[in-house]
Amino acid sequence: GIADTRIAMTAERLERTIVAVGSGKGGVGKSTVSANLAVALARLGKRVGLVDADIYGPSQPRIMGQPNRPELAGEQIVPLPAHGVRMLSIGQLIEPGTAVAWRGPMTASALSNLMEGDWGDCEILIVDMPPGTGDVQMTLTQKWKPAGAVIVSTPQDVALIDATRAIDMFRKMDVPVIGFIENMAGYVCPHCGETSDPFGSGGAEAAAGVMGIPFLGRIPLRLSIRTASDAGTPPAAGQGEEAALFKRLAERLVE
Ligand code: ADP
Repeated sequence: GIADTRIAMTAERLERTIVAVGSGKGGVGKSTVSANLAVALARLGKRVGLVDADIYGPSQPRIMGQPNRPELAGEQIVPLPAHGVRMLSIGQLIEPGTAVAWRGPMTASALSNLMEGDWGDCEILIVDMPPGTGDVQMTLTQKWKPAGAVIVSTPQDVALIDATRAIDMFRKMDVPVIGFIENMAGYVCPHCGETSDPFGSGGAEAAAGVMGIPFLGRIPLRLSIRTASDAGTPPAAGQGEEAALFKRLAERLVE
């Protein structure tokens, strides 16, 4: 399987397997994919935690429909339940709509609080990384040593070039890239049913092949995915075609 030995090896050293979900740039659907992967993994019977480490643009409280403020148990923050997953986001700790304008040390300590929350018996922690390859990403990778990274990209050239940088960063930090997911691949018109490719097609799969990274699959650009995300009901938690799609991605990730 994709995750096989490397994850097993790392998991022995850690309490739980940490999987970082990264992207080269923002807006490619990294948070949407993280949330739905987490939910799909939980539906496969895994005990899953979701950390929103996208500290400057935390969107998990909205996507997962869990905006409440978490409680403290001693020094630890207690993750909140959402769609069968336990989750924490910086967005649950600050006032909604306020900007996070912290300097490095503040950001690092906020991230520590999330990563070292009371994750109990969670087996897998899905970490929604900030986009790009900056300081926060490096600190996170160094300090918590993810067992693997999943890269999300659109099929578009610029997004792919940025994705390559993210892949390079993980490799330099000794984190194996265990999967590539192409998002916003093919737009199915809700009126006529015809498929078009606003961001091109097939680019991520080809790039993954060249880089020797397992291609986990593609997710179409669909109005229903956007509206479900905005409503706090990730499609992976439903019964439709999209739930089946995210289930297959999750299966490939852990097989
Ligand atoms: P990122 O985390 O990479 O910045 P998001 O997950 O926040 O990206 O997605 C950006 C926007 O695109 C959101 O409004 C989200 O609902 C939407 N979106 C993401 N993936 C899809 C998709 N496959 N189909 C339709 N809309 C999508």
